[in-house]
Amino acid sequence: MVLNIKRASSLDGATVNVQDVLKPFDHQVGGHTPFTSLPNGHLLKPCDEREIYFYQKMPKIIKSIAPKCCSTIQGSSVSTFDDSCVNCRQHQLENVVIPESIEGSPILNKRKLSKNFIVLSDLTYRMKSPRILDLKLGTRQHGDQATVAKIACMTAKCQSTTSASLGIRLCGMKCPPSEQNNQISINKYEGREMGKLELFMAVRQFFNVSETVLEVVQKKLLGIRDVLSEADGVRLFGASLLIVIESEPTDFTPTDNLVRIKVVDFANSTFDGFQGDNFYEGRDEGSILGLDTLLGIVQG
Ligand SMILES: [Zn+2]
Repeated sequence: MVLNIKRASSLDGATVNVQDVLKPFDHQVGGHTPFTSLPNGHLLKPCDEREIYFYQKMPKIIKSIAPKCCSTIQGSSVSTFDDSCVNCRQHQLENVVIPESIEGSPILNKRKLSKNFIVLSDLTYRMKSPRILDLKLGTRQHGDQATVAKIACMTAKCQSTTSASLGIRLCGMKCPPSEQNNQISINKYEGREMGKLELFMAVRQFFNVSETVLEVVQKKLLGIRDVLSEADGVRLFGASLLIVIESEPTDFTPTDNLVRIKVVDFANSTFDGFQGDNFYEGRDEGSILGLDTLLGIVQG
């Protein structure tokens, strides 16, 4: 795909076809920067350069548990991955315009426009009514390049929340209204206030779905756990586990559209001295602790 993306600020008063203007992504629950929906099941995520490099160089084993990244955008240069999805290889998105409101996303510096974006697969694609859970993974959130102040702040946040003891912290949750329940919506600030009991109750509420769906969830979580167990030297500092479940499945819903689980947000993740970081040995015990906590709740 030749992703012909333009920035509204560079159009110099040219007319913009309304059809081409991107829409904000409706299903976002965690994270700091607003995502944008692209056609054909993709999202545009503003990010820092480090996350672009991470997606460009990430170990193969981690690719299998991350959302598919089809393109990266650095300034005016767009590069599409060789292994991008079929849609991206076969179709051309023409004249996609990044509105200034998105360019000005508060990434790194609130006054700076974001220069970097990644085009990721949208886990809610083709779901009618998705339930979404974003759990910050691991017992440590800061990257190796963090400042002393940042390390102190992030470490305190881990200690004062469920991150340090359970390896997960609720970062966002949204369940659409059903016959039994009103809409449920929990943000990251509420998630930080949760103790073990509240976290367990919220996560159980999220997984109040059919046995069939729960089996798929378990299988996928075990698959991710297997990958992390084998990923020597990888550290997913600050990453999240994003779980999306179709709330209103029918007999015709394809299995692939029922449950999607991926690890997201790699801005502080590292492997093998990536970008001058430390080298780590063995598996990421913090993230595995989080997976085990979650599996315990789901299987409980
Ligand atoms: Zn694609």
